Amino acid sequence: MGRIDFEAIRRRYPITEFCESRGMQLRGNGSAGRLVSLCPFHDEKTPSFTLYPAGYAHCYGCGWHGDIPQLCADLDGLQRADAARKLCGGDLVTMSRAVADQAKERRMQEAYEFKRWEAFLWRMEATRFLIWLSSPQSRTRERDY
Ligand SMILES: [Zn+2]
Repeated sequence: MGRIDFEAIRRRYPITEFCESRGMQLRGNGSAGRLVSLCPFHDEKTPSFTLYPAGYAHCYGCGWHGDIPQLCADLDGLQRADAARKLCGGDLVTMSRAVADQAKERRMQEAYEFKRWEAFLWRMEATRFLIWLSSPQSRTRERDY
């Protein structure tokens, strides 16, 4: 079994439907076209629990923030992974080992590329500095480095 693909769960299960299934009253807050609800984690009279299309919710009252598995976990007192299992029933979305490893490798490759690019920029900077040092201006002008 692979790691749980939370991204896929967020895509597959809209957080709005989950909230409604838990009896939360959703309404539009007008301005940004987002849905808000009374927060299930603190007492309030004006809804500040805001749902975002990307599958996250944020409460501007108590600061709760999370996605649908996290919401389920906190509502039901579960671990995040168990909440994901509960959401998906028997159809848990997991990344296969290979895909998970690939994603990890890609992240490492990206980090490596970035470091190389950074090193390249430093070399450019150093080269420019050396060129400037050997240029006539460097003797006549104040260093602006
Ligand atoms: Zn709250």
